[in-house]
Amino acid sequence: MKKAAAQQSAAKKTAAEKTAAKKTAAKKTSPAKPAAKKAAPARKAAAKKAAPAKKAAVKKAPVAGKPLVAPKKATAAVKAAPAKTVVRPGKGESRTALVRRARRINRELAQVYPYAHPELDFENPFQLLVATVLSAQTTDLRVNQTTPALFAKYPTPEDLAAANPEEVEEILRPCGFFRAKTRSVMGLSKALVERFGGEVPDRLEDLVSLPGVGRKTAFVVLGNAFGRPGITVDTHFQRLVRRWKWTDETDPDKIEAAVAALFPKSEWTDLSHHVIWHGRRICHARKPACGACPIAALCPSYGEGETDPEKAKKLLKYEKAGLPGQRLKPPQAYLDAGGRPAPPLGAG
Ligand code: SF4
Repeated sequence: MKKAAAQQSAAKKTAAEKTAAKKTAAKKTSPAKPAAKKAAPARKAAAKKAAPAKKAAVKKAPVAGKPLVAPKKATAAVKAAPAKTVVRPGKGESRTALVRRARRINRELAQVYPYAHPELDFENPFQLLVATVLSAQTTDLRVNQTTPALFAKYPTPEDLAAANPEEVEEILRPCGFFRAKTRSVMGLSKALVERFGGEVPDRLEDLVSLPGVGRKTAFVVLGNAFGRPGITVDTHFQRLVRRWKWTDETDPDKIEAAVAALFPKSEWTDLSHHVIWHGRRICHARKPACGACPIAALCPSYGEGETDPEKAKKLLKYEKAGLPGQRLKPPQAYLDAGGRPAPPLGAG
């Protein structure tokens, strides 16, 4: 009996020991749960910290109203923007689309050059006729510097027709080709006296019958001295209408006919001024200032010249302000708030 009791007691002890060992083991492992509980708030806190940072990153630029500091790629995209928005008519442009685009260009240029006018100084049709003949191969500014002395000495066709050629040559020397120009202006003066009673005719066919007078000169006189619509196809006009793909013609008479068909007759004279002014100030023969051009979005030749806005501004010319082709500095001096060329000095 004693032996059995001892065996029972030992078995109880062993069971108690096993239970105690289990409890100890459980105690040892149980701290893992609280650790996990602690880790969760830490993650939440970290997430909270990160969340405002993200929000701030999103809000920052618009709230501050500061221009975004664009990465290089984005900057390139901004610079190239005009090219994306440019209407590039190419070969597929319909006649209707061409007419619309041409008229829109003229409207835009009318906004940029509302004061466009012939840049030759004149007081009557005779003076304009002579000044236009003299302007071949030279600048209007040079002609304007020369004609006051000429018209002071020879105010009428009769006076110029009867002049001493050598004296006229001396006055016209600064215009270049002064001998040929002397022959022209004296010849046309004689023709005016002999055939038109000393008056400048107001019909195209009569004007082009005068020595040294072509259609371009005739239209300048008709449009500006007689108020008769005319298209003046000078070197600027020829260059620009080809850049704008208004026509592929190269002959001045054909260019005139092609452009005339795009516009109502009443717009011809002003159109000529707008195009010529744009050619003199922005769309130059060698370095068109595309980056400062107000009609870049309508021009199929955008990119033929400088497209960087700052560099392009430096190319703008402002002939009325000084010597031909003189560049004013800084460019802001002759750009208005919209970046467009300001009116010439003294223009009304
Ligand atoms: S300056 Fe450039 S964009 Fe402007 S009309 Fe001339 S070619 Fe076209």
